[in-house]
Amino acid sequence: MSTPETISLKSRQLINFCRTLTLDGDISDEDAWELGNFLNENPECCDEWPGDELASLLSKIFANGSVAEYELKQLASKLGSIEKKAFKIFNKEQIADSIESFSPYDCILPSIPTVVSIKSDSNPDESYSVDLSVSSCSCSDWYGARRHFQPNSLNRCCKQVAYALHKIKKGSEYPEWLQRLIDECRHSKKGLNPKARWTMVLVKNSPVIVSSGTGDWINVYAHYDGYFSKFGYNLKEQRWSYGMRPYYSATIKAALGIQ
Ligand SMILES: [Zn+2]
Repeated sequence: MSTPETISLKSRQLINFCRTLTLDGDISDEDAWELGNFLNENPECCDEWPGDELASLLSKIFANGSVAEYELKQLASKLGSIEKKAFKIFNKEQIADSIESFSPYDCILPSIPTVVSIKSDSNPDESYSVDLSVSSCSCSDWYGARRHFQPNSLNRCCKQVAYALHKIKKGSEYPEWLQRLIDECRHSKKGLNPKARWTMVLVKNSPVIVSSGTGDWINVYAHYDGYFSKFGYNLKEQRWSYGMRPYYSATIKAALGIQ
C-alpha cells in the first residue's frame, strides 16, 4: 500500500490515538479492542493510510472472536512501522513549509448599536447589560479585567458579550473566525482570555488568529481540512502540540516574529 505525502487531520488524530496505546510499550488485547472501537467510531479514517492498513489487520485479528498472542505481535509491529512512516512524513512537511505572503489584519469585535440583557448562568434572577456598540458589560469580570481596553478589542469579550453577540445574530453571519471564538466562549462558559494578546494575520487570504502572551504556549486558530481548528505552539520548546501544525506554519511564525 502507498504512503501519502501529507497526513490529514483525521489520520493525525488516529496516529495520536495509536501513540497513546503504545505509550506503555506493550500492546494488550484491550488496546486492540480500543483501536477497533476508534476506527468504528471514525470510519472515515479507514479510507486512507494508516487507517486502511489497521482496519484490514484488525478485521483478520477479530475474525475468530479472540485475540491470539502472535496477532498482538503483528499489531505491535504494524503500529511501529506506522509510527516510523508518520515521523518521516512530518519531517518532510517541516522542510516543504515555505514562507508565503501575509498581512496583519484588524481583529476586533463588531460594533452593533444595541443593548442586550443577558441572564446570569448562576443566578437566574440576575442579569447583565451588554452594550454591543462598545463591547461593554455590567459584570464584575468586565469591570475588573476588561474595561481599560480599547472599545471592541477582543480582550473586552467577557462571557456575556459573547452570549450577546450570539443572541442577536438573527441570520446575519459573523466572519468564521469570530463565530469560532464565540462558540468557544459558549462551550467553556468563559470570556476570551483578557490577558492574552490577540492578533490576526491573513495568510494566503485566509485568517489566522493567535492568542499569545500568557506563558510558553500560544494558541493558533486556522483553517485545516475544512474546519477552523485550534493548534498549540510551545515557544520555549519550539514545538507544536502533538506535532500537529496548521498549514503555512512557517509563515504564521514569521508573521508573529517567533522562531
Ligand atoms: Zn460580562
